[in-house]
Amino acid sequence: MASRGVGAALAIAAAGLLAASALGKGWISAGSASVGLMGGEVCRGGKCKTLELPEKDGWRTTGTVAFAAALGAAGLGLVAGIMGLARKRSKVPAVLTLVAALAALGGGIAFILVAPGKGVMEHLAWGAYCGVGGGVFAVVGAILLMRAAGAGPSYAVGMPGTANPAARTLMLAETAKVSGPEAKTMAPGMAMAPQVQAPRPSKGAPAMVPPCPKCHGPLQFAGQFNAWYCPRCQSYLQV
Ligand SMILES: [Zn+2]
Repeated sequence: MASRGVGAALAIAAAGLLAASALGKGWISAGSASVGLMGGEVCRGGKCKTLELPEKDGWRTTGTVAFAAALGAAGLGLVAGIMGLARKRSKVPAVLTLVAALAALGGGIAFILVAPGKGVMEHLAWGAYCGVGGGVFAVVGAILLMRAAGAGPSYAVGMPGTANPAARTLMLAETAKVSGPEAKTMAPGMAMAPQVQAPRPSKGAPAMVPPCPKCHGPLQFAGQFNAWYCPRCQSYLQV
């Protein structure tokens, strides 16, 4: 399924972006100083000094929360992406990634909004873009993975010709009905020919096509009903 691959790729890319933005010190840079979610540094003449974030307006706390959420979303996104690639059908990692990514996005945006000083938006640097981009990637990737994981029970995957889960379920129900004990009473409207001995075909690919017992025309094998169908008589024959 295409959305599974895209979702997995987005989730893994998001993991890298989120981790880089959380661990780096490049959210806001002005002159020789730049800060990230957990603090920053100011460099002059090849010497760098660590900057602590001021707690004004809860900036430091906001940064710490965003940092934790971004790292959490990165780790979960990586797990969800790998599980998506491995075609695991669990939704849990994708759901957790979505929650953590939304928290990281909210925290990151709040971190920018409460940053002290004017012209913060003009001084946004790579860390902010990586963080917001990674958050959006993680949200989209998680939603795609959730949808891929919820796209129907795995035993229906082998059914040919239907991509739609509802149609698949319907088809499964029909198959169960036809091959069940009351197999002779097929769905109303289907004319049933008297039962004939037809060779049981091997798994959807009949080796030889028997003629219709009534009109001797060529039969078609309807794999989804496990029955032969005569297009001329418009009737199904049990196998
Ligand atoms: Zn016929």
